[in-house]
Amino acid sequence: MARHYPEAEPEEESPCVKCGACCANYRVSFYWSEVDAHPSGTVPVALTVPVSLYHAAMRGTEGARPRCAALEGDIGKSVRCGIYDVRPSPCRGFVAGDERCDEARIAHGLVPLGMAPAPGE
Ligand code: SF4
Ligand code: SF4
Repeated sequence: MARHYPEAEPEEESPCVKCGACCANYRVSFYWSEVDAHPSGTVPVALTVPVSLYHAAMRGTEGARPRCAALEGDIGKSVRCGIYDVRPSPCRGFVAGDERCDEARIAHGLVPLGMAPAPGE
């Protein structure tokens, strides 16, 4: 849900731009009003699926082997969120370096951020 890509300064690149693991590890679900079919929503409806009466999920994250339909690139190499500016709230709230981040990275064979070398090392 990576979530920090564009804001990173060039000299201090976000680890997320070479990761994307969280976008392919969890169901990304949210209240349906975040979908742009709702007057106040922003998330493109075509990239979502309904998962309950009141909730939608990012398409591709609802199954056993999740990968968000908005995720572009190769996990662990180079990725970007194709809808970064209008991504749903779980993605905005996801924190790089926390337990769920580490869990996703480990699931994709990546080193947890706390153990990874700092940029430039
Ligand atoms: S798993 Fe962590 S490092 Fe990787 S994209 Fe998500 S927040 Fe960023
Ligand atoms: S919407 Fe973007 S940030 Fe959220 S899971 Fe999909 S690719 Fe990742």
